Amino acid sequence: MRVCIVGAGFSGAVIARMLAEKDISSLVVDERNHLAGNCHTERDSETGVMVHKYGPHIFHTGIERVWKFINQHGVMMPYVNRVKANVANKIYSLPVNLHTINQFFGEAFSPAEARAFVESKARMDIDEPQTFEEQALRFVGNDLYEAFFKGYTRKQWGCEPSELPASILKRLPLRFNYDDNYFNHPYQGMPRDGYTAIVASILDHPKIEIRLGGRHEDLTEDFAHTFYSGPLDRYFNYDLGRLGYRTLDFVPERAEGDYQGTAVINYPDESVPFTRISEHKHFAPWEADSFDKTIVFREYSRLCGPDDVPYYPIRMVAETQLLEQYEARAAQEKNVTFVGRLGTYQYLDMDVTIDRAMDVAEAYLAAYSPVEA
Ligand SMILES: Cc1cc2nc3c(=O)[nH]c(=O)nc-3n(C[C@H](O)[C@H](O)[C@H](O)COP(=O)(O)OP(=O)(O)OC[C@H]3O[C@@H](n4cnc5c(N)ncnc54)[C@H](O)[C@@H]3O)c2cc1C
Repeated sequence: MRVCIVGAGFSGAVIARMLAEKDISSLVVDERNHLAGNCHTERDSETGVMVHKYGPHIFHTGIERVWKFINQHGVMMPYVNRVKANVANKIYSLPVNLHTINQFFGEAFSPAEARAFVESKARMDIDEPQTFEEQALRFVGNDLYEAFFKGYTRKQWGCEPSELPASILKRLPLRFNYDDNYFNHPYQGMPRDGYTAIVASILDHPKIEIRLGGRHEDLTEDFAHTFYSGPLDRYFNYDLGRLGYRTLDFVPERAEGDYQGTAVINYPDESVPFTRISEHKHFAPWEADSFDKTIVFREYSRLCGPDDVPYYPIRMVAETQLLEQYEARAAQEKNVTFVGRLGTYQYLDMDVTIDRAMDVAEAYLAAYSPVEA
């Protein structure tokens, strides 16, 4: 009997492939009419630009086996994510680094001078930051917090930074050198032919049947096991209530030439309703100059309604309690493994998604007995 894999994103594709290579057949079902889940890319018919339909995706990792795997299924082009911020109509470098500090305060500090200056502004009286706001104030002080963190966070999460856990601002959010590489990982790149081509290559195996435009709920066939990368609460018909998500609206605008000269500009000011503008041809610098036109997306964040695409799990106290109840239900389900960002209700970068899917497939294969199947 074959296995069922719900979702043709990275989670589902990686599991299907690893099982197929050990001779296990699967049906991969996705209700969307395309592969790659939220990492789906497609060419915009008007401009020709490769567009990330569910928001910009930059591949970065420190996990060797994941980097090797992704390179087996596509050509990764060199790419370094460098983000700018428009604050009160001035452009700054992100993440907050020595350039940002010198620009913002109109100084020419050395690293040591900048560190001493920021420390003089930091709220050293906050010993153990509990909230996002305390964490930011503790490390960067009020001026940088107000300019770069406060408004962006309120727009992104729709609540006060004092209501969010400190863990959201994981690392020290500033650098005392001119390094403006957004990520710290040793490997970073963009797929030359887009993410959908990579997922198509992962799923390209005779043991895998793909069914697009089909819902898990409508399947009648029996399966040896189900790997479910859909929303955890949806699996249980939301009968304990809905887990909270933020959703995003991407409003496109097409223009001639180059719109903003870079891939992403954040807009932390609260007077601006969107959080950022992304110009997708700059995610593919090797081909950006070949397009006469361009397409940008303004990104608006709001609470996710029943008919919206769920993007970011909110994971506040109420959601965490509900999650625990659903997790207890999930643990009772025989022959179902919940995987991925929706199945485990977690924000997972692509590399972590792939790594976790590999773990899940390995665990299944270790327990799998072909005689019983
Ligand atoms: C705005 C945004 C930006 C991001 N940027 C980055 C980035 O720059 N770098 C990075 O590494 N990661 C990024 N990520 C994370 C990345 O999107 C995830 O790691 C990845 O999408 C997780 O893959 P998945 O397969 O678990 O889930 P998904 O890609 O969501 O796939 C799940 C699939 O299951 C299908 N499905 C669900 N329920 C059912 C059902 N009942 N029946 C049939 N089909 C169903 C859905 O249609 C979907 O296609 C970003 C995430 C967001 C929200």
